[in-house]
Amino acid sequence: AKLLGRNTYSLFTKAMNDTMLRRFEIEEQLSMALERNEFEVYYQPKIDVKNRSIIGAEALLRWRNPLLGNVTPDEFIPIAEHTGLIVPIGKYVVKQALSFLNEWKKIHRKNYTMAVNLSPRQFRDKALMSFVEQSLNDENIKAGSLEFEITEGILMDGSSYIDDALNEIHKLGIKLSMDDFGTGYSSLNYLRQYSFDILKIDRSFIKGITLNKADFDLVKATIAMAHSLDLLVVAEGVETHEQFTLLDTLGCDLIQGYYFSKPLPAKKLLDFQVAQSD
Ligand code: C2E
Ligand code: CA
Ligand code: CA
Ligand code: CA
Repeated sequence: AKLLGRNTYSLFTKAMNDTMLRRFEIEEQLSMALERNEFEVYYQPKIDVKNRSIIGAEALLRWRNPLLGNVTPDEFIPIAEHTGLIVPIGKYVVKQALSFLNEWKKIHRKNYTMAVNLSPRQFRDKALMSFVEQSLNDENIKAGSLEFEITEGILMDGSSYIDDALNEIHKLGIKLSMDDFGTGYSSLNYLRQYSFDILKIDRSFIKGITLNKADFDLVKATIAMAHSLDLLVVAEGVETHEQFTLLDTLGCDLIQGYYFSKPLPAKKLLDFQVAQSD
């Protein structure tokens, strides 16, 4: 028993060391990733449920590092957030996304929208909004074509610069989207408190809509509630035709998910077409 105990302990220590080592390596590599050009912004199309046309896209960051390989955003974004590196990285995403949007609109002559994810640390950067304004000007993009997707984690901060930044966003005419709706504790309270334009129903609910009544009822009620607040509703993580059809029936406005397309590199999105047949 004593031996087992010691083994368990050392296994635990090893696991902890591995985690810390991995984190340390990511932190170190991440600090050089921008200048080494290791990031690429991918774009996942958003599709209008009614006419099955592309109305815009969400920018999703990809990182490929020579030492670590592909690191997922779920792993590196929290570390970038913690170290503050998300500030310059986030500016890079805004810049890339708007420059791509400019090109995309020119080629297709359509009024696409572009959604960019923002995390709490980026909101505390006082220079963010002037940077965004400048980038919109540089790329000749109207503020109304840009959306910021935020989760309630940003709003929980409760500090005054969050309010200032949100007011600034609203004043400029940039759209505000509540991401991962339904996963937090106070989403409803925040919907009431701030002026959102778009609500994104979290993938975990979409997953269940064709399988269990509880998820179906929740999604149905969420769509009705959002519409009564004049919000546009996006379902994320739509993977099957059954989910798509059901969301259509429930009056969901926009769909994002593997059913239509995974996030794509810029070049691929330029060629992307929604299959018109069922
Ligand atoms: P998110 O904003 O909730 O983005 C949706 C995630 O779901 C993306 O993962 C997307 O690739 C994935 N997804 C889309 N459709 C489907 C589907 O049908 N099935 C499944 N299983 N997954 C789907 P990704 O790209 O790995 O990003 C993960 C998270 O990392 C994002 O979650 C977002 O919170 C964060 N993130 C990504 N890029 C950025 C960025 O540029 N800035 C910030 N601050 N956060 C970012
Ligand atoms: Ca998002
Ligand atoms: Ca989401
Ligand atoms: Ca998420």
